[in-house]
Amino acid sequence: MNVATDLNNSRQQLMLVHNALIVTMDDQLRVFRNGGIVIENDRIVAIGQSSDIVAEFSSKSHQVIDLHGHFLLPGLINTHVHTSQQLARGIADDVDLLTWLHHRIWPYESNMTEEDSYISTLLCGIELVHSGVTCFAEAGGQHVSGMAKAVELLGLRACLTESIMDSGDGLPSSWGVRTADQCIQSQKELYNKHHNTADGRIRIWLGIRQIMNSTDRLLLETRNAAKELQTGIHMHVAEIPFENELVMQTREVDHGTVTYLEKIKFLTSNLLAAHSVWVNENEIGFLSDSGVKVSHCPAAAMRMLGFAPIKEMLDANVCVSLGTDGAPSNNRMSIVDEMYLASLINKGREVYSKGTTDPTALPAESILKMATVNGAKAVLWENDIGSLEVGKKADMIVINPSTWSMVPMHDCISSLVYSLRSENIVSVMCNGRWIMENQKIMNVNEAEILSMAKHASAELLKRASIQIPNRMNLI
Ligand SMILES: [Zn+2]
Repeated sequence: MNVATDLNNSRQQLMLVHNALIVTMDDQLRVFRNGGIVIENDRIVAIGQSSDIVAEFSSKSHQVIDLHGHFLLPGLINTHVHTSQQLARGIADDVDLLTWLHHRIWPYESNMTEEDSYISTLLCGIELVHSGVTCFAEAGGQHVSGMAKAVELLGLRACLTESIMDSGDGLPSSWGVRTADQCIQSQKELYNKHHNTADGRIRIWLGIRQIMNSTDRLLLETRNAAKELQTGIHMHVAEIPFENELVMQTREVDHGTVTYLEKIKFLTSNLLAAHSVWVNENEIGFLSDSGVKVSHCPAAAMRMLGFAPIKEMLDANVCVSLGTDGAPSNNRMSIVDEMYLASLINKGREVYSKGTTDPTALPAESILKMATVNGAKAVLWENDIGSLEVGKKADMIVINPSTWSMVPMHDCISSLVYSLRSENIVSVMCNGRWIMENQKIMNVNEAEILSMAKHASAELLKRASIQIPNRMNLI
């Protein structure tokens, strides 16, 4: 990248970026083979053919950046990630679901401090930025104030959510379970403290960890509070067959979680339902009619949950976006990897309905939409982000396609889904500021964070008495 002046040193000025292949992801899915874009402070003020943009704006611009052959895309959006679980990467590989939850995750989360959450979110954020993410939705974790501090420092955009449960089946006894009222009160305090902070980059959402740890009172108070605060709700929905069976037994409905949530009028357009793997045709209809957004996390689904009916959801006009889930469910917090997996898994899944895989299912352009415009809708931020258009925030990423992993290239859209790797992402801008430049994270010292994270993770596992058995003949 040829940068004329210091990139972040000229607020109130125009920045012109040109000579790039620009994938806008706008309504017409325009791709400029040789495009230019102009940014004023945090917003895009012009976009078009490079020659036109240069002719009109180069003399007025304080900075002119020639991307010569790079790609420019909207920042990618990760709609389901547990930032406070990053220090738990590798603590629950190849174990069954109950061991995963009761002997690894609950002890880990119940022993976290706010400082752990801060370091964990910094570590996670670094990985997100390297994979081209400019905005994420926290799935519901520990110590939101620690997360907010890290997000503000990194320069990212996020919807942060506390892990919320008011019923404690299987939880460690030391972890006091709060009442529904206490859960709502705690989240309103977080909302008052952090919502719309960090130049508007941080929003606070309400959380429901899962239906099995929620009373009806909590569900309905959460729905009402979200309406009052005009914010979103993030909830794990229909993850495993056992969840549906338990809902049928204890809540008297003829199918699972989604049917019950429909019955109590919990399904609304500000609900982001993570996973939604075990849903039937009727329930897909409920999700579609109520405008619920779904976060599809293909890696975590394959590892622990099962095949989600994503093609059916998209066919029914459900807004499906992409998430990584947390480090103990996936290990790789890369939305680039999730794009690739989403395509492969959903082509392969067609074997169940058609008796053979379907290479035409979920084509590359659908996957790119899931990671951009659908992601923006899922986090209720589509007026500002998700595409490169005049009036939207300048959240964008620069890709170098001239490496062994992407050459030769015949169709840029399919290359972005099937060949792109995180290593091809060179620079990332969020809210008009470069937060990674030439693969260097701008606002924190990456090596320092890695060292802090190793130490914090080891200490936390010790406190939580989590032991990872040795594999093979480790000598
Ligand atoms: Zn999750």
